[in-house]
Amino acid sequence: MMFCYQCEQTTRSPAGIGCTSEPGTCGKDEATAGLQDILTHLMKGIAQYARRARAMGVADRHTDDFIFYGLFTTLTNVNFTATRFVHLIQEASKRRERIKLLYEEAAREQGKTPEILSGPALFQPADSLEQLLRQAPSVAINADVEHLGSDVIGARALILYGMKGVAAYAQHARVLGYQSDEVDAQAEEILDYLASNPTDLDEMLEESLEVGRLNLKVMELLDVANTDSFGAQEITSVRISPIQGKAILVSGHDLHDLKQILEQTKDQGINVYTHGEMLPANAYPLLKAYPHLAGNLGGAWQDQQREFADFPGPIVMTSNCIIEPGRSYKNRIFTLGPVGWPGVRHIDNGDFTPVIQAAKALPGFTADAKEQRITIGFGHHTLLGVADKIVDAVKHGDIRHFFLVGGCDGVSPARNYFTEVADNAPADSVVMTLGCGKYRFNKHEFGDIGGIPRLLDIGQCNDAHSAIRVAGALAEAFNCGVNDLPLSIMLSWFEQKATAIHLSLLALGIKGIKLGPTLPAYLTPTLVQKLQSRFDLDLDLIGEAQADLQTALAHTA
Ligand code: SF4
Ligand code: SF4
Repeated sequence: MMFCYQCEQTTRSPAGIGCTSEPGTCGKDEATAGLQDILTHLMKGIAQYARRARAMGVADRHTDDFIFYGLFTTLTNVNFTATRFVHLIQEASKRRERIKLLYEEAAREQGKTPEILSGPALFQPADSLEQLLRQAPSVAINADVEHLGSDVIGARALILYGMKGVAAYAQHARVLGYQSDEVDAQAEEILDYLASNPTDLDEMLEESLEVGRLNLKVMELLDVANTDSFGAQEITSVRISPIQGKAILVSGHDLHDLKQILEQTKDQGINVYTHGEMLPANAYPLLKAYPHLAGNLGGAWQDQQREFADFPGPIVMTSNCIIEPGRSYKNRIFTLGPVGWPGVRHIDNGDFTPVIQAAKALPGFTADAKEQRITIGFGHHTLLGVADKIVDAVKHGDIRHFFLVGGCDGVSPARNYFTEVADNAPADSVVMTLGCGKYRFNKHEFGDIGGIPRLLDIGQCNDAHSAIRVAGALAEAFNCGVNDLPLSIMLSWFEQKATAIHLSLLALGIKGIKLGPTLPAYLTPTLVQKLQSRFDLDLDLIGEAQADLQTALAHTA
């Protein structure tokens, strides 16, 4: 029986929590879930050796590349192809042997006896799919729940899922050529820690904050990678309605992939549109310089089946969040990198010729739609550039409060909360947003305060880094702590990147974060209570939008 509770939409029933029967709510089958568990387990084994090799002066970047990439494939709504995981498991096993040898050689060269490791370092994956599936329950996150209890398993899950989120961001930076030994070493340490099967709750919660701190470094690295590669985000008016002509839709989060597609479709008479979390790409100077980057169509991941069905060209999924492709477009959707769906064409050599051919063969848009636009591009470079204006507006009482309403979207109706908060935030407040949760309200009219737009789209979910920098700058300007600012954070979480961001905010000591629509299932009441009291954190579930707004506004500038 499979068990997975890594995302917000996990099954919650009187019988218990977690997706335990296939398919999970996301559509993941038992085989894929089990193989993902084995792959995750092997990543810990690789890290056990990699950490020790590094301590001997042998840091192997390819090993870390594989750890991040492999973990990324196991995030919610990323890869559903069991056969892909069989290959990744075989590769993981080989890579673990290689780093083990490197470690042992280095140890002997230094006259030391290599440690004999246990746990994931020794796990031998079977050769056949059938046997692998028999092994899977022994390495599932809940394998020892009967002996250890749900608190221990939940604390381990918090660390592991946070690390999956970190891996996704690290992978986006790595494909742009940005990597940091400090990040790699810390990731190996955390995975090695998990491999030791920890049971001390307080120690594990400390370690989860370490994941948050690591994620801050990784988000910063990705910010530098994006900015160095494509320039700093600029305030940009993006078209969100189609124009006549052949068309390709690019979804997901990977700006590097989008750049490749734009380059290869140059002068081919094809318009490229972004979708979902790729929207912020339109604000980067070196991406928007391509005249055939025509704008953004559609919104959050959960609407993709309808939106992709209506799109008259090929669709490329560069990273999360893919859901089961509808029949009407399954033969014109392509996956890249960590993403996969059985029977969907996968491009792994950077050659987008099949996509271009499909775009030429498909009708494209036959007429221009009525022009509609939204404004984006409020990354930290933009916002800190007008910090004086914002500080003045606060000092003069023109801006009373800041709301950060961001994160992942999802299907649950309880997520209307985030729309209600944004729409009902008073006229003298500013709403900052990021992630695909913004699609709930980013086409609404918010107006401006003395020329400062009331809705500031900071970018992708990793651009939480920008939000943190802006909050830090405001705190400095007002000579107070971030917790003393008239700032409320409403975080909509769905998958493991949101977990990583949440841990980053907790690691910074930010209090009173409203998280929803439900608490992560792995955060047991004991863990929540410990996080709140031990770290003096005020972590709240989202409540009723109007009441939460009133409470927030009681704390004004
Ligand atoms: S990823 Fe989420 S929906 Fe999918 S099986 Fe796991 S908990 Fe369930
Ligand atoms: S913000 Fe989260 S839910 Fe939204 S598309 Fe990105 S990974 Fe998926």
